[in-house]
Amino acid sequence: MAGARWARTGKAGRGLLIWSALAVSAAAGLAATGQAGAQQAELNLYSARHYQTDEALYRNFSEQTGIRINRIELGDEPLLQRLKSEGANSPADVVLLVDAARLWRAQIDGLFQPIDSKILNERIPARLRANDGSWFGFSTRARVIVYDKARVKPQEVDTYEKLADPVNKGRVCTRSGSHPYMLSLLGAMVERSGEAAAEQWARGMVANMARPPRGGDTDQIRAVASGECGVALTNSYYWVRLMRSSDPKDQAVVDKVGFIWPNQASSGTHVNVSGGGVARHAPHRASAIRFLEYLSSAQAQAYFADGNNEWPVVKGVEVGNPALKSLGAYRAEDVPISSIGKGQIAAQRILDRVGYR
Ligand code: FE
Repeated sequence: MAGARWARTGKAGRGLLIWSALAVSAAAGLAATGQAGAQQAELNLYSARHYQTDEALYRNFSEQTGIRINRIELGDEPLLQRLKSEGANSPADVVLLVDAARLWRAQIDGLFQPIDSKILNERIPARLRANDGSWFGFSTRARVIVYDKARVKPQEVDTYEKLADPVNKGRVCTRSGSHPYMLSLLGAMVERSGEAAAEQWARGMVANMARPPRGGDTDQIRAVASGECGVALTNSYYWVRLMRSSDPKDQAVVDKVGFIWPNQASSGTHVNVSGGGVARHAPHRASAIRFLEYLSSAQAQAYFADGNNEWPVVKGVEVGNPALKSLGAYRAEDVPISSIGKGQIAAQRILDRVGYR
């Protein structure tokens, strides 16, 4: 996770600064952005995406446009804190975040500036972007269920609701309840079924846990394979990453674990986005819009699919990723992404009440 990188780089208030392949020298620094003549030739990108395969995505933009990308990668929480503390002096042009919960938070904190891009409005489906143009989803991921094929029957775990059923007592594993991936899942449930039903579900989940929440999504999948957990939740790309791994240990994990599209006969699988927008005080606004439009191009969309095993949001983009393709089509929930973030406040209240750490 990006949070780990933040911790590793340590120094208070400073994140990991990564220069793109086209960066001329490390001495240039973000302070150079104000120099005359350099106005639209560079872009300061604040990113909470934590996927190494994104390198090609950024390099490609610089090669196409001549715009150098100065990138700061932080965990989503430290990134939002940094933007807030920098205020009007922030050099950030584009802010990329993972999960609708965080995008919504940045939106209501006024960290984006709404834009009206004909390209983005045409290419990004309305349900995958903010209704005021402050942010856009660029890739989707699903929150899926994985289970131990040796001891759990798929029909016992084919909906989110069933994970809270007594049949799954002592089997359930998830990452922390207050992680954005969990907040959004619960937030969507609040939107769909109301706060009381969502609370009942969260209570059932806590009662069914095989162990206290810990680790990331991949850790849950591995714990299912090891037999510690019977069933777990994970974002889809972590599963596909293991499917594509050539490491025999990962292959052994994939062999033992079953994959389920949750809620196919009812509300559909929970879908979330990775996305971003133009920073409120962007010094290079035109470059920022150009970069976001680039992210909606067929080429960039294909990088999301091939690099990080996410689905493109733009219709008609060819996915050249056999493992991702092998998961097939599925029914997604129809809760608008912009309303999922809103539900996270109620979701956090619920988690506190039921002791879902
Ligand atoms: Fe992730």
